Amino acid sequence: GHPQRIALQIFPYAKGRRLLLTRDVTAIELAEAMRRDFVANVSHEIRSPLTVINGFIETLQTLDLDESQRRHFLDLMAQQARRMQALVDDLLTLSRLEGSPAPDASHWVDVAALVDEVAAQARALAEVLHQGRQSLEVRAGPALMVAGSQAELASALSNLANNAVRYTPADGHIEMGWLWLPDESVEFFVHDDGPGIEPEHLPRLTERFYRVDRSRSRETGGTGLGLAIVKHVAQRHGGQLLIDSVVGHGSTFRLRLPPARVTPMESGEAGRLA
Ligand code: ADP
Repeated sequence: GHPQRIALQIFPYAKGRRLLLTRDVTAIELAEAMRRDFVANVSHEIRSPLTVINGFIETLQTLDLDESQRRHFLDLMAQQARRMQALVDDLLTLSRLEGSPAPDASHWVDVAALVDEVAAQARALAEVLHQGRQSLEVRAGPALMVAGSQAELASALSNLANNAVRYTPADGHIEMGWLWLPDESVEFFVHDDGPGIEPEHLPRLTERFYRVDRSRSRETGGTGLGLAIVKHVAQRHGGQLLIDSVVGHGSTFRLRLPPARVTPMESGEAGRLA
């Protein structure tokens, strides 16, 4: 529901005669408003960790602290610096995705290797956040290759897997894997039995900086840009991101790529790729 905005211009072009020009500027104004929101969001996201860091610098400069207190303050500063680093990394990733041509369809990525790599990395995060109590299993589909960017697909899948790890409690279960659907598209999925997401949030989830639970996102190192990145990667590969979630039961995120980007792997090929 944005109201339509019309710009009017009146040109006197001869004595007593005027030309009235109308132009629909709804889209332009909307884009401008979104850009302003984005800049305000980025500034805010950078300012909060910076304020914390500056506060601790001042403390270190003015107070005579013992070694363990000093170390404690430095750890807190490092944590805030990592937050800023993650934010800047995600911003750069997004701007690269928005500003470069879609990935080459002649480059083939081994699906099994891709998912294994992402799963291993997500397990390492689970180890840190949940001390290894959370389980993450890979449900492998058939041996496939997909055409596209290995780096982009790995980044998209690890955003989904890391989210599952971060938002699902320590005693939870996560499954990730892929299916080759009857129409020959491929579907990567990440399923968790975590808290789930209220339906009213679902349509906005891929917006930059949209978060359901701000503090949970921050505590676990979220930038609020992860799903925006996933959506971009899906679209650049001609695919889409689908989200199903039931509050109290869990969420399933699916990244679907079209048949044109998928090919079954010949036996023996897996060895050659490895
Ligand atoms: P963030 O860095 O905050 O995780 P994302 O764009 O990756 O940003 O996700 C947006 C929001 O979607 C999150 O803040 C969180 O509220 C919600 N979300 C994402 N994945 C899950 C999940 N697996 N379970 C519950 N909520 C999720």
